[in-house]
Amino acid sequence: MNQPKQIAGHDLIPGTMINDHLSVPDTAYGIPYSIICGREPGPVLLLTAGIHNAEFVGIQAAIELSRELVPENLAGTVIIVPLANRSGFEHRTMSLVYEDTKNLNRVFPGNLEGTESERIAFLLFHSLILKADAFIDLHSGDGFEELTPYVYFVGETPCETESAAMAACVNADHCVRSRCKTGGAYNLAAVNGIPSILIERGQLSLFPRHQIEADKEDVRNIMRLLGMLPENPRTYRKQQLTETELSAPAGGCWYPELHAGDYFSAGDLLGTIRDYFGHTISSVSAPENGFLLHQCASLNIIKDGPMLSYGTYLPDDIDAGF
Ligand SMILES: [Zn+2]
Repeated sequence: MNQPKQIAGHDLIPGTMINDHLSVPDTAYGIPYSIICGREPGPVLLLTAGIHNAEFVGIQAAIELSRELVPENLAGTVIIVPLANRSGFEHRTMSLVYEDTKNLNRVFPGNLEGTESERIAFLLFHSLILKADAFIDLHSGDGFEELTPYVYFVGETPCETESAAMAACVNADHCVRSRCKTGGAYNLAAVNGIPSILIERGQLSLFPRHQIEADKEDVRNIMRLLGMLPENPRTYRKQQLTETELSAPAGGCWYPELHAGDYFSAGDLLGTIRDYFGHTISSVSAPENGFLLHQCASLNIIKDGPMLSYGTYLPDDIDAGF
């Protein structure tokens, strides 16, 4: 446990709550964050949302948790960043940072001398992520994305066991053991030995109440696992997957055949791309058996842009204790 005495310049005084902003150099705005210092000692948990600003379920869950979690009955410290990409939110981008049009979750650990995205990532990484004993990053399907709920942790890291235990506390049927160790906030945190997961829940920039409540309950359940809240955590068995992302082979109109959460077999038609006269440009077939995690659900699809992402599994991985 790090047991820092200060975070972002604030003394950690048991029984107190702080709302403040991280100032991003050379921009007019700050990134909002809350710190809730429990009455009892314990670990530091960091919760972030809005790294992709159009993924609203996690943003609203984080805002609500920042008001509902209180120092009483809390052991340790919770840091909540409800909206990491604030400029994207305020300009209604589809999850790119407004000023430099970069994907914030591809530029960690960032650079204080770089563009806006790189400066935000640098501040989050050095001021908050490296201070944490555990890290949860909340995501959803973007405005154009269908998605079924699942959770990521990174394989082959110093904290894989602890990260997998956190993933087990998430109320979803599937988890992805990621092979990505660069660029993403939770990926890089895990490489640095901080047990970390990324929860995916919600789609199409909607924010239904039951999904917000499910995100909040996942966070509380992980806090029970970490000994920060009383009571024992509940665990959920999961099918463990390896993820494959497919980019669109052409641009045009997209007609998916399946929905997120569907299983498919090798050779099944996944979707068709057509031109503006309705002529087929490309038919996309499944290269192998899989489970559809998320896919483009908008009529327009961009060449080499996101089309769909699926999971595959080995028989040994089924119900592998997650
Ligand atoms: Zn996201």
